Amino acid sequence: MFELIQHPNSSSKTLTFDNESLNVLVINRVGELDVDSLQNIDGILVQTNTSQEAKELIRIIRSNRNRLHALVPVFISSTVSKLHTIKYQFDGVFSDDTKPVILQQLKSIKAKLREMNYEIHQLDYTQSLIQSALQFSYSREQIFEPARSRTSKIGYAYPFLSVVLKDEEAPRVIEILNKSYEEGYTVKQTKDKTHTCRTCSGGYLNYRECCPKCGSADLKTEDLIHHFLCAHIAPEQDYKKEDALECPKCDKELRHIGIDYDKPSSMHTCNDCSHQFQQAEVKALCIDCGKDNELSQLGNIEIASYELTPLGEQAAKYGIHIQTGATEQPRKVNAVSEQILELFKKQEISREGLSEKLSWEGSVRIHPEIMSGFHVDQQEIIQKEMCAIITNYLGKADVLSSPSTIWYRFLVYDQTPESIEKIGKLIQNNISKLISDGIGTFDNPVEVLISKLTNG
Ligand SMILES: [Zn+2]
Ligand SMILES: [Zn+2]
Ligand SMILES: [Zn+2]
Repeated sequence: MFELIQHPNSSSKTLTFDNESLNVLVINRVGELDVDSLQNIDGILVQTNTSQEAKELIRIIRSNRNRLHALVPVFISSTVSKLHTIKYQFDGVFSDDTKPVILQQLKSIKAKLREMNYEIHQLDYTQSLIQSALQFSYSREQIFEPARSRTSKIGYAYPFLSVVLKDEEAPRVIEILNKSYEEGYTVKQTKDKTHTCRTCSGGYLNYRECCPKCGSADLKTEDLIHHFLCAHIAPEQDYKKEDALECPKCDKELRHIGIDYDKPSSMHTCNDCSHQFQQAEVKALCIDCGKDNELSQLGNIEIASYELTPLGEQAAKYGIHIQTGATEQPRKVNAVSEQILELFKKQEISREGLSEKLSWEGSVRIHPEIMSGFHVDQQEIIQKEMCAIITNYLGKADVLSSPSTIWYRFLVYDQTPESIEKIGKLIQNNISKLISDGIGTFDNPVEVLISKLTNG
């Protein structure tokens, strides 16, 4: 079923599957990974000696600037040491027993990866991380579940995001996931809570009793003894007489706890400042930055699982930019009159042949029934929204005109047939979505036609 092939010009090997055109690159050391040669790779098998090196490898792979390469299925060999500390970052554990499962996973992830749009439309870093995370989750059909992690700054790590960001950035992973929740891409369910340092958000805290006067942890603690008979209360030391306890006030011997006496509380003495007190103050020392925190000052982070919503799935497939306007810059829409569009068209046709790439004319027609139920003012608002969606996919020099609320025309310069086809599909999908989300369900609500620019 499996065959190992040695590459002619390198030390790397590829796993091939009988009757399946799938290539899985086998990597034994970090140095063997060439991130630029992942074009024809369907998956990667990490077979390092240590989990540390495996982690370094998965970080390099998942941080790839090319989104498709960053999301490639990556499996880890069952032979890697301390596998349990790292395996949640991989798509599966490869061994003789798991081969058939791995093959299925490979195929399923590959199919999902093909469904998605990898263009990043002017997303800021956080938004593009959210989009990658949604795409990861979607392609794996996997919920973001927190995994306990000794190396994460807050004690928990998540698949994908926790390797793309560094261990110290664990609080930011939570921030990003929470943002995905706030924007409606995920639903979350609380799994745990963790307290964090007020200064550095670290979760490794040493809780101990301290002197309320000088803060020292060097305390001597003694039980207080309450003699029932004479009501005297003093530290245990004061009652000690050889092996027995004797009351320093009334000189009676104390025999039975609960009958003669009890220990109502304890007494602390600070070895640094000699302060005596009953209630020591519990403080949390941050192991990372060394700051002492009072308990009331600690941060409280919710550790949750995050699951994609239908909106999150849409964002994974078609891009995040179309979903909510809330965090985006207002889009500038410059629709021109039809005469101007015709003028540009004429110019472009006369220029034809000078450029290697092709120019295109497109039109979007909205089913007339969709607009008929709206007041003219509302129609104009919808028209602007439609223009905004189309503008999203046009370049700076491209031209858009909207002769009526149900008709839109545009010119797109210098695109290959493949990319113009993609643009057409994106416009069609996103306008259909605007209609189905905001207006209602119609058969064939949008028709997008694109043709090569020609005379007449
Ligand atoms: Zn003290
Ligand atoms: Zn007494
Ligand atoms: Zn700290």
